[in-house]
Amino acid sequence: MKYLPLFFNLKDRPCLLVGGGAVALRKARLLQSAGARVTVVAPAVAAELAELAASGGGAVVEGHYRETLLEGKALVIAATDDEAVNQAVHRDATRRGVPVNVVDNPPLCSFIFPAIVDRSPIVVAISSGGQSPVLARLLRARLETLIPKAYSRLGALVGGYRERVRDRFGDINQRRGFWERVLQGPVAESVLAGREEEAATLLEAELEKDAPAPAVGEVYLVGAGPGDPELLTFKALRLMQQADVVLYDRLVSPEVVDLCRRDADRIYVGKERSNHAVPQEGINALLVRLAREGKRVLRLKGGDPFIFGRGGEELEELSAQGIPFQVVPGITAASASAAYGGIPLTHRDYAQSVKFVTGQLKNRTSDLNWPELVHDHQTIVFYMGLHRIEHLCRQMILHGKAPETPVAVVQAASTPRQKVLTATLETLGEALARNPMEPPSLIIVGEVVELHAKLAWFNEKAREARFAPLALREP
Ligand code: SAH
Repeated sequence: MKYLPLFFNLKDRPCLLVGGGAVALRKARLLQSAGARVTVVAPAVAAELAELAASGGGAVVEGHYRETLLEGKALVIAATDDEAVNQAVHRDATRRGVPVNVVDNPPLCSFIFPAIVDRSPIVVAISSGGQSPVLARLLRARLETLIPKAYSRLGALVGGYRERVRDRFGDINQRRGFWERVLQGPVAESVLAGREEEAATLLEAELEKDAPAPAVGEVYLVGAGPGDPELLTFKALRLMQQADVVLYDRLVSPEVVDLCRRDADRIYVGKERSNHAVPQEGINALLVRLAREGKRVLRLKGGDPFIFGRGGEELEELSAQGIPFQVVPGITAASASAAYGGIPLTHRDYAQSVKFVTGQLKNRTSDLNWPELVHDHQTIVFYMGLHRIEHLCRQMILHGKAPETPVAVVQAASTPRQKVLTATLETLGEALARNPMEPPSLIIVGEVVELHAKLAWFNEKAREARFAPLALREP
């Protein structure tokens, strides 16, 4: 973040506005809407601006800017086209520690103005950090259409009840539960439908109800997908936004973790092949403890939680302890590698079935059931196999698979780090020596891999487009 967003209390505070034209007028309106008392200084001040300043308890100084006008001011805005004056305002304000904005000149600003969606008391501020005010304005236009005007009235209504609710529910979790019920239920509906009296009655009734029993926590076991945040489900996102605490492991991309509720506690529980930040039993116990504290616990797992995710083991423990849970599927690495690598896992001509196999064996005691894995007309997908890849290829050949069977290794599917390497069972070792691949990588074995040559699409350009900051399509 280049600038920290803050909301500035300017009620009855004196502010200085240097400039007397149309731009200054716009800024004066903005300052006054926040209750500021604006002193305008300029050799010539437009009549409308002068009136506005006077009506809001401010003043007009006809003449040139001078430093003494900064005395006691909460902030200063320079809206002139005189470069020397702008520089002087910037210099003087900086020396005195007065926040300064020179319109359209970010290098001379200690703060900048966001684009605003005003549903007071709800206000949304959008900034491009001075990089593209037009982009910020376009986004504002979209939000204007998304946020109902009635949010103003909803904000005002519930604002009036804050203290009573605080007195009524001492416990913060109960209070949060109360507001979530009110803001997502019939009370909010009534306000949005324009029936405010009814909304107030409903809110009163909700307040009179017995306090709900101490909240029982819940665990959400959620698939975070392969890395690209756009591959999350709506449901995953909703639960991510309401959880009190988040447990995530290494496979969950930082962009996805970033979408969790800002003030949720985040706990990294690791998991590299040989280095578990928190061992599995520890994770199970932690889930139970947090849920018992009444928290909504989000257990975020890479890909799908029920495919090589040990999600089942965690739930068995919760079930044994009587803790409620929900499971949200995610896009598993095989689906993502197939889609983003241009390798359909089944195909009328090449493969009528697909097997997901782990390349990592429990306790390393036995090996896989190889005869089953070498049949024709099937696709084999190895998860967690990169560190033993040569062994896997050798075993397939030893058990009768043709050495020229195509193989693909897909690294970090759907992310900017994605790479796809294709070879055959026989040549893969050599190909990897020339093109090392890193975890997380998936191995796909079968004729379908040949389609990659025709269907690959997630190239450099597609990746850039995916990471463009925002696609602003017409709604
Ligand atoms: N539950 C996860 C799998 C966990 S096992 C899922 O459904 O995807 C971890 C293995 O998944 C890694 O060793 C790797 O083989 C594979 N994997 C996870 N994310 C991947 C990605 N973005 N690209 C390729 N392989 C991935």
